[in-house]
Amino acid sequence: MWRLSCPTCGAEELWVVAGSFSSRIPLAPDGFAFCDAKFVDTEDELVECGACAARFPLAALDGTWLQHHKASEAHAAAAELASRHGDAAAAKALYAQAAEAEETALAFIEPDQTRTLGVTVISAVALRCKAGQFELAESLAVRWLRSKRLPGFAADQLRVLLRSTGSGETEGSVGGCEPAR
Ligand SMILES: [Zn+2]
Repeated sequence: MWRLSCPTCGAEELWVVAGSFSSRIPLAPDGFAFCDAKFVDTEDELVECGACAARFPLAALDGTWLQHHKASEAHAAAAELASRHGDAAAAKALYAQAAEAEETALAFIEPDQTRTLGVTVISAVALRCKAGQFELAESLAVRWLRSKRLPGFAADQLRVLLRSTGSGETEGSVGGCEPAR
């Protein structure tokens, strides 16, 4: 089963817009048509949101919040380990993977799970910061603040994070722009 809401804006207006296909279609002088195909298989499908125009792989709509959140936690734990061993580059790459998994997890949150949504958005933004991806952190935070779907505590923490992305940029240190507790 696929989630039918946009991971970015929540709209239920998703279109499969690209992908590669394998098939068996008779070739005619004027070309070929999918309706004449014996079968059609597709892979690497790309989905576009009709509301916000965000594009993402169809695979990002498969699974559960917990599955993607767990994957994010595993990447973040590996990143912390790499950071402790002084491998800042590996740590940043792993934090970026953790952030991507957390952003994917956002797509699987039901509209009434606002607390989970808030926590997951904060986590994704904080992970982008730790990955040194301050522009991505900022655009993600701004997008969700504009969405008006976040609970108050999450909006407050995001604003704190946003302020610290400005100062953290020059240092670029792993572990920068932590949310205020
Ligand atoms: Zn959208």
